[in-house]
Amino acid sequence: MKSDKIEKTNAEWRKQLTPEQYRVLRQQGTERPFASELNKVHEHGFFKCAACAKELFSSDAKFDSGTGWPSFYQPISNEAVETKVDKSFFSTRTEVLCERCGGHLGHVFDDGPEPTGLRYCMNGAAMKFEKQP
Ligand SMILES: [Zn+2]
Repeated sequence: MKSDKIEKTNAEWRKQLTPEQYRVLRQQGTERPFASELNKVHEHGFFKCAACAKELFSSDAKFDSGTGWPSFYQPISNEAVETKVDKSFFSTRTEVLCERCGGHLGHVFDDGPEPTGLRYCMNGAAMKFEKQP
């Protein structure tokens, strides 16, 4: 399959993204809890990468984790995201990145609900919501 990966320089990303999006997506930042409007989205639709518009999560897999970050029990497909071991902040976590542009989205933890038992803890700043009929 042909790769659809997007590679841009930091200067290009900086121009395209808002400062908060850049901080999260390109510098592995974490937004303040309850900061994102996407926490409150309960309509049907897709959550897309704020940098490259790849579809990452469906509202079907969204749940209220109470953490203040948009949370999902699975990505829209196995190809939508990549994971990587993150050993920053003196702990080992699993980082979640956009498969297409490599943007940092958040982390995945194993204390989520059924059916997967996973909790994809995402930064709302890294995503855009597109409502579906
Ligand atoms: Zn992306």
